[in-house]
Amino acid sequence: MQEKPTGTEIRQEFIDFFIEHGHTFVPSSSLVPGGDSTLLFTNAGMVQFKDVFLGTDQRPYSRAVNAQKCLRVSGKHNDLEQVGRDNTHHTFFEMLGNWSFGDYYKKEAITWAWQLLTEVWKLPKDRLWATYFKDEYNEIPEDREAAEIWLEQPGFNPDHLLPFGLKDNFWEMADTGPCGPDTEIHIDRGPEFCNMQDDPNHVCHVNGECERFLEIWNNVFIQYNRLSETELVPLKKTHVDTGMGFERIVSVLQGVPSNYKTDLFMPMIRRVQKLTGQKDTEREANLTPYRVIADHARATAFLIADGVVPGNIGRNYICRMLVRRAARFGMKLGLDEPFMAKVAKVVADEYGDFYSELKRNQSAILDSLTREEEQFQKTVKAGLEQLDELLIELEKTNKKVLDGERAFELYATHGLPLEITRDILQEHGFEVDSKGFQDAMEAHRLISGAGKEFGEMGGEDVEIYTNLLTSLRESDKLDKSGVSYTPYNAVTEPVEVLALIKDGAPVDSAGKGDHVEVLLPKTWFYVESGGQVSDTGQIVSADGKDWTIRVTGMRKPAAGMIVHVGEVVMGQPKKGDLALVQVDEDRRTQIMRNHTATHLLHAALHKVLGEHARQAGSLVAPDRLRFDFNHPKSMTQEEILAVEAEVNRAILANYTLQIMEKPLQEAIDEGAMALFGEKYQAEVRTISIGEEERLSYELCGGTHVDETGDIGLFLITYEGSIASGIRRIEAVTGWRAYELARERMNILHDANEFLGTAPAETMQKIKNLTESLSNAEKEIDRLRSQLVANAFDEKLEDCEEIQGIQVLKTVLPDADMDALREMADKFRQKYKSGVALLASRSSGKPIMIASVTEDLVQRGLHAGELVKKVAGVVGGGGGGRPTLAQAGGKDASKLSEALDQVAVYIRDNLK
Ligand SMILES: [Zn+2]
Ligand SMILES: [Zn+2]
Repeated sequence: MQEKPTGTEIRQEFIDFFIEHGHTFVPSSSLVPGGDSTLLFTNAGMVQFKDVFLGTDQRPYSRAVNAQKCLRVSGKHNDLEQVGRDNTHHTFFEMLGNWSFGDYYKKEAITWAWQLLTEVWKLPKDRLWATYFKDEYNEIPEDREAAEIWLEQPGFNPDHLLPFGLKDNFWEMADTGPCGPDTEIHIDRGPEFCNMQDDPNHVCHVNGECERFLEIWNNVFIQYNRLSETELVPLKKTHVDTGMGFERIVSVLQGVPSNYKTDLFMPMIRRVQKLTGQKDTEREANLTPYRVIADHARATAFLIADGVVPGNIGRNYICRMLVRRAARFGMKLGLDEPFMAKVAKVVADEYGDFYSELKRNQSAILDSLTREEEQFQKTVKAGLEQLDELLIELEKTNKKVLDGERAFELYATHGLPLEITRDILQEHGFEVDSKGFQDAMEAHRLISGAGKEFGEMGGEDVEIYTNLLTSLRESDKLDKSGVSYTPYNAVTEPVEVLALIKDGAPVDSAGKGDHVEVLLPKTWFYVESGGQVSDTGQIVSADGKDWTIRVTGMRKPAAGMIVHVGEVVMGQPKKGDLALVQVDEDRRTQIMRNHTATHLLHAALHKVLGEHARQAGSLVAPDRLRFDFNHPKSMTQEEILAVEAEVNRAILANYTLQIMEKPLQEAIDEGAMALFGEKYQAEVRTISIGEEERLSYELCGGTHVDETGDIGLFLITYEGSIASGIRRIEAVTGWRAYELARERMNILHDANEFLGTAPAETMQKIKNLTESLSNAEKEIDRLRSQLVANAFDEKLEDCEEIQGIQVLKTVLPDADMDALREMADKFRQKYKSGVALLASRSSGKPIMIASVTEDLVQRGLHAGELVKKVAGVVGGGGGGRPTLAQAGGKDASKLSEALDQVAVYIRDNLK
């Protein structure tokens, strides 16, 4: 028997087959969709081409082939609960696809599909089935064209062609937008694969319930644009979009009954088995944990390689949940030590040749996994015990569902993600209220939007620009690729104003104060991307017509279209006028300094903190740069200074920047850093810094200084946290850094002048001053209590007589309770019989003390009752012994009024 092809070979055969047929290989885009905030993860091969179908992006090729990394763990396509429990579901998977953007159509697509399956891969023709679209409501025309093409394929059995309706064979991107019929190819694996043979009513068929027929390839023909629920218009350009589940075709070609039995998973499963030491029979009896661990190790390795580390929010939460879920399944196999890194290492070995990001980030991947498992182990035991108690409670109260709030508490305090809680509950026949969990989490703002599958489709806005583009191309005012973009070229020349757009419509001229968009055949202004803000400046008349438009921003409203957004500040610009653009050079220079410094900062963080400190966000503005990166804890002052020094060292070395264009794959292979969440073209611009040793190498479309020395000076102004596991640095460069340094030095200078010291002695001087100040304050306190004591001595002399007894009632300035107590003692020493009520203010609040001599207690007086009565007036209370009691209050302004209560009390109570 022939040797089975490996998964790697099958992937490559698919790609090579389509390259031979004129397709360009397009590397997989990141799992984090570029420029699409509505989608949590890339979940299909077409995500990176979505804008091409929508007409807002164009590519240098019209035929493409790719193998795309996908993840489905949230939102509409959520297979997580199935993962590990059956043979076919995965969180991470690969999608193979061939694409035609207005190029070939149904005939080529179907013919090539048949050739690849039957000639290259030699699948038996009589086992293949095809479906095509036939609307069950007869509203959309039947796809006869596809059906006829199928019947022409050599050796295709006409009885194996079946029509299906909207649900199975019509594909739509969203409620509106591009859509069309599709044709699916299924394989009949034979009656032994039917898993419903026990059901006497069951009949095996295509799109049926059992596992005998397997869909292996879907070819979508995008030929309509859906405007509304009922309106479908044909597209001028038709496209082909195909998708083949990689794991599935590998299982078919390797002749195994489960995706997990292919060589895409077995190496990881064997690694786990080696760790558990179980025999093959034991492994087969415990299949679910093995499958979950293999799947999740693969998914998390790819996630971390794309910069998604475990954390509390959004995508990072998903990564955390997957690591912890795998760790919990590991516990079931007796794996109590961190093990995910060992399994992920196999993933990097198996997949790293094709997906080089796994190799480049291998240490970051392994470290992140181990750190996350260790963190989980600290709390998981308590969490599982807590959950056990909840289970007993559910049983006792005869409930079937754990409420979401409790599930959330398990996550918040013990780090048990909802998905783990659900696993465990299900194992015991219970459910969890997921909605309640999400609500509780939302309330705690820990997770952020999984969002809709896709955002709004381009509105009519796009149409104005695409129409404009079409007519300008027809009249040769613009060439095929649209507006020429040359932000790296400093030399400008006069160009024609091709269009002025005001209030969303083209106008022939505009007047002072009008807000307009200006379309030129060429622009030198940088358009915001990769964190770098757009240029500003002005457009002026170049043929003596005396008008000026102030440009405040830039916009790309459609593919091939770039417009200058601004306001007419002088004159009357007209369509057809000659114009000269003037970029604000000073601002641009500051931006360039900050951009190059950002690259140096990124490299310095890697050097000082480690490879895991990868970019998570960036802003390059004229006045500052902001850089977010992965790092689990706050930086120490030493680390901050080391990073700052690294950057300044590179500035002083005055390296010349090497800026080159090259194919994406070549740059990646050379180790250039690509940023996740960015969309890259086939040809990329690379920025390399460093001479003998390369300091920094990034893919970047931004504008940069020529030599690092142009940056001048780099100062970090802020380091802090923006989310769990993500830190932020802000910094300044060039003139702004000089200003900041000058400002701080001026402050120091003024302080020195004032103190009469040299800078080196300033700190000592301040310490000395602070010390003598605190000594002086202590002395003041001592003197103040002395004064109070002296004042009291005088007051002691003038007691009043009420009902024949000596009474002293007085408000003393600035005495605390201890001082009052001392004075009460003095009173009793001087007067063998009498009543004293001494009050004061302590930190603005009234305090008081009452003293009654023993003989007067015998006559019915009580210090506790007295003080309570007096304190009542100032909004307070208190109490104590009959001879001595104290109280506090709220309103010090009523103290003198309160003292009147002393006489009242004595009159009422003295016997
Ligand atoms: Zn069946
Ligand atoms: Zn850059």
